Order: sequence, then structure tokens, then C-alpha cells
Amino acid sequence: MNRQTVKAVSTFFSPSCSKIAQSFLILIFFSASSAFSAVIEFKAGVASDVITPEQSMWMAGYASRTKPSEGKASELYAKVLALEDTQGTRLVIVTVDLIGIPRPSREWLQIQVQQHHNLLPESLLLCASHTHCGPVIRETKYSIYGDSFYGLSPEYTQRSQQYVEALQQKLLQLVGQAIENLAEARLSYSHARAGFAMNRRLKTEKGYRIAPNPDGPVDHDVPVLRICTPDDELIAVLFGYACHNTTLSFYEFCGDYSGFAQRYIQEAHPGAAALFIAGCGADQNPYPRGTLDLAQQHGRALANAVEAALVSQPRPIRGPIRSVLETVTLEFAEPPSREQLQEQAKSDNKYDRRHAEVLLKELEQTGKIRTTYPYLVQVVQFGNDLTIVALAGEVVVDYSLRLKAELARLGAGATPERAGPPIWVAGYCNDVFGYVPSLRVLQEGGYEGGDAMRYTMLPGPFAPSIEKRIVDKVHELVNKVRVSK
Ligand SMILES: [Zn+2]
Repeated sequence: MNRQTVKAVSTFFSPSCSKIAQSFLILIFFSASSAFSAVIEFKAGVASDVITPEQSMWMAGYASRTKPSEGKASELYAKVLALEDTQGTRLVIVTVDLIGIPRPSREWLQIQVQQHHNLLPESLLLCASHTHCGPVIRETKYSIYGDSFYGLSPEYTQRSQQYVEALQQKLLQLVGQAIENLAEARLSYSHARAGFAMNRRLKTEKGYRIAPNPDGPVDHDVPVLRICTPDDELIAVLFGYACHNTTLSFYEFCGDYSGFAQRYIQEAHPGAAALFIAGCGADQNPYPRGTLDLAQQHGRALANAVEAALVSQPRPIRGPIRSVLETVTLEFAEPPSREQLQEQAKSDNKYDRRHAEVLLKELEQTGKIRTTYPYLVQVVQFGNDLTIVALAGEVVVDYSLRLKAELARLGAGATPERAGPPIWVAGYCNDVFGYVPSLRVLQEGGYEGGDAMRYTMLPGPFAPSIEKRIVDKVHELVNKVRVSK
């Protein structure tokens, strides 16, 4: 065992513990602990850059916007954290202050990083903060955005496409930089809580509508992965929270609460990068909302939770890194008939009308309406110490609550009384295409249950098999990557 390992072991417990305590801990290490003899050091590298559009663009998130952006309240960032275990296995996490990750961009980037950096698709994890104050990305002529029924003008469509092309190049460059920056690092995990997310599905006489529901399910957990040099200097902090990034709806570019949280953490730790991973917050809103001041307050609340996690007992995270990325086929409910769509095309609601037109076009061009969706599920395992489940789309909170409970019970070291290692469940990863309801939310209906499909090019609500298919796939992948039970 080298000196660095001794130091690493002693500082896992507390950076401020006394020399005597340190010697005692090292003694325990030498004499009894087999767990720590398996400590595997990592390498870590970070890179980040501003991705705020340089010109005015149409903004994503709210179809009701009537004009393009007017300046910026804060910069938007893309950040990359590259990790490598002692066997040379890498994991590259990319976070962006944007509405989502378009699937074609994910596909482009995964080909490029494989060609340029020999990085396998399962080793690339893309995460969007889902800020509603970023530019529209990957817009087509069927865009729901724009100031007329026909969506974005050709000018704004072109700006969006140019932006995405430049963004992709920048992400590729940042991945390269983060890999170049790889240097010895230690990882530890902790977590805390933040309370500003509230369930936003309120039951009314007319069904579920979007309004604060203090009695609905929430996930207030703030998972935190701390990446330090061997000398315990903070290199990066990866943190998550399950809440829509929708404090704001104005016309300035802004990272919203998660952008401010990242800024405050970086200000408190000069030289370190803070990266945000959205959780399963599809049915969660930040409340109260509506002003820049509130976005900053929520950002401060989340940053404080991260600081609380950083001062609490860290849990050492060891390798190896094992990742897997697969698709599972999700089924849609029975698609509408041509006659039903022709009827819907006369609707007073312009989004219903547009949706019907899109589907009629699909019917005309391909002879059918799609019945399935190839859904991406990624799982990353760090030794026996941490499992990250990364789900595509806007995932409702039921998934994170269920998966954390089920997977923790099956984790290494778990007993009926005590959960195993932490489980981190993320949403908005790799492909943000629409809402992913649980069976409960699907059956209850409302916006996340199926109504929001009218804003996409997908046919309609998912079939009741959705939750089982996703959860079964997660279990299958977790079993593949867990080193031992
Ligand atoms: Zn959303």
C-alpha cells in the first residue's frame, strides 16, 4: 500500500480528524478491513464552455411564447466529466443547460466519440437540465413553437439547426478536453435534501390539471458525487434533483434554478466544476415560481443542499466502472384511425389540429402510424458502491421512488433492515422526446399521462405496459453490471 492510499483512506473518514484518530483508522485498515484494501483510484477530468446562443433564437419549453429571445439573464453551459478506473474503463458524463437531448444529436456524438476517443456508446451519458429558458433545438416544420399555426419561420428553423450543429461540435471538443485533463482522483458519495419541488398533478372535477399538490409524491433527495484530487481538493461535484426546471418563463436565456445552483457551488469552490443531473421530475414543479429572484432562491436552496451533502459523512466510491446502454421497446395505445384523425384535424385546439395533421401525414407517407418507441435505458455501476440509472424522456417521480426502493433492497450488503449502496435515478438522459408516465399517472390521465403527446410527433398515450417494460429492463441491466450481490 502506498502513502497516497494511506492518506486517501484516512481522509475518507474526515478531513479534520486528528493524527491519533488517523493512525487508529489506518491500523484498522491494516488489520481488519478487506473492504478498503480493494480501494481503486480513479482518474477524472473536466471541461466546460458557454453554449448561450450568440443571437436571438426562439425559446424552448412553452408553446405559448409569441416572440424570440431578448438577451440573457445568465449563461448556459455544457460541461463534461470524464472518469477512468484503474483498468482504463471510462465514463464520460455530459451535462447541458438545455431543454433536452435530441436523439439524433446523441447518435451523432456517440459515433464521433467512438471514432475520436475509442469511447463506447455505453460509456457516454448525456444529461439535460430541462431549462425552459434555452433555445429550441432540432426543430422541424412541425414545430409547436412559433407565432403562427405553421410554427417557426424558416429563419428561426435555420438558426436552430445551425445552433445544434455548432453545439454538437462543441460537445465533441469538450469530451476530448475532459479526457485530456484526466488526472488522479478519488470519488465519494453523499446526499442531502431540498424541499422546493412540489408535485404538480392536482385532481379536480375535470381530471388532473397542473397545479401545486402538496399531497402528491415527491423525491426530495439530492444525490452528490464528489470528485477530489488525492490531496482532497475538489475537482468537480455532480449533483441531482427531481424537479422541472421551470421557475421562469420569460424571454431571456437562463439556466433557471439548476443554473444558479451550479453557479453558487462553483463560486463557493473556486476551480471546481458543478454539474447538474435532472432527476425524475416530470410531475414536479418548483414552487413558488415566476420570477428571477425565485429561480435564484431555489438555486440557493439546492446549492445549500449540495454543501450539506459535502460536509456530511462521505461514502467512498470504488471501481470498477461498468456501464450498459440498451433500448427497450415501449408500446403505444391503439393508434387513432384515419377517420378519427380527420375529425381531430377540425379541432378548435390548434395543437390537436397540428397533431392530427402530423399523424395523417405519417399515415399517408408510410401507410401506418408507429406503434412502438425504442426507449434508451443506461445503467452505470461503480464497484459495489453506487448505481446510476439514467432514463430517457421526461420521467415521473414514481420511477425514481420505485427503482430506488427495489434496487437498494437487492444491493450488495443490503439486509431486510438496511438498504444497500445508494441508487441514483436520473431522467432527461440521452433522448428527451416526451413524457414517460408510470402506470398510475397513465391511468389517471392529465398532462403527463398522455395529454402532452399533442405537442410531439408521437401517436398518443403509451400502453399500460410502459412501467413494467422500463422497470424490468432496468433490473435486467443492473444485474448485468453489478459486480456481485
Ligand atoms: Zn418538461
